[in-house]
Amino acid sequence: MKCKCCGKERFFARQVCRMDVIVDGSNQFIDNVGKNGDVSIYDAETPYGPYTCEACGAEYDDLAAESLPTNMHKNADGKWVLNESGEEPDIIIPATFTSVWDGKTASLPTKCRVNLTKRTIFDIEPVDEEALSYVDVLDAEYVSFDDKEYPAMRADEVDPETDEVVFTYE
Ligand SMILES: [Zn+2]
Repeated sequence: MKCKCCGKERFFARQVCRMDVIVDGSNQFIDNVGKNGDVSIYDAETPYGPYTCEACGAEYDDLAAESLPTNMHKNADGKWVLNESGEEPDIIIPATFTSVWDGKTASLPTKCRVNLTKRTIFDIEPVDEEALSYVDVLDAEYVSFDDKEYPAMRADEVDPETDEVVFTYE
């Protein structure tokens, strides 16, 4: 199913796994088998709930098509809000932040995350230093996700009179 609140399809869940481990002579766990933190899982059961939407935090007892969030409800305006606070939940998804340079001859993309509810950009990963040394004049910045692009601006540079659907960063 798709999350009723945000429409995304990724959920935190739980799963029982069996893996190879190393024990001592008293059958006490010492270490995982496998190098570099890899674990050697050889059997995994069906995942189970409760399920939590990775993007918006909506919680579900199960993933049946008709299931509704247990921690949210629709308000009078038809918007999903948190039961506790009555506020809209933050919907957070991964995105790409791109700076465009030198008469649009160069663009430097990097990973970031966006909050769709607050229209903010955060966790912008630094652009490669060497790539940055080849560019000079910044033309524009935008953020992209779900195959769409939106203008990006520093929060203190936005003019609420003229700028619409802008995503901001600090
Ligand atoms: Zn969701």
